[in-house]
Amino acid sequence: MARRTISNSVRFKVFDRDGFTCGYCGRTPPSVVLEVDHVTPVSAGGGNGMSNLLTACFECNNGKAARALGTVPPLDYRGLANETKQRAEQLAAYRGYLERLHEQNEEAVDMVSLAYWSHDGPNLIFSHENASRERSQILIFIGRIGLEAAVDCAQVSANAVMSGYVQKKYQWRYFCGCMWKRARGER
Ligand SMILES: [Zn+2]
Repeated sequence: MARRTISNSVRFKVFDRDGFTCGYCGRTPPSVVLEVDHVTPVSAGGGNGMSNLLTACFECNNGKAARALGTVPPLDYRGLANETKQRAEQLAAYRGYLERLHEQNEEAVDMVSLAYWSHDGPNLIFSHENASRERSQILIFIGRIGLEAAVDCAQVSANAVMSGYVQKKYQWRYFCGCMWKRARGER
């Protein structure tokens, strides 16, 4: 009953929140068709609020693995057409989600880079040869210590270079060391 009343827009909100990832097996489109599962079943009083909803793939949500052999239903062509449509719809939305995530990540790395840049000099973090590797390294640190701490480390490192405390050729190592310390909970 209530299960059927989840609107398409709420479903995609749940998918978006959960990163289009099945909460049980971790798979994403297009290898699975996603559904919305009730954490507390409707039959047990669970509601349709976002906090009770979880992204789950069709197989996990329907306990396909638990189904006894010989009970596989005959091919349902209307069902298949509907599934194909859902797959395409979910894949498009998932791509959009990944693009937004990528943009947010790039912006975060730019902010760290700008914290360095703002100290009145050339962009001190990135070397030309390794810029993309360095950007992904920064992104990993942002994931571990947060954007604010990464920006802080960039400023500390920039100051250290500007004041001559750290030689320019060691700036990247110093900057990474600073972030590693934060990641370990040191200052
Ligand atoms: Zn699953």
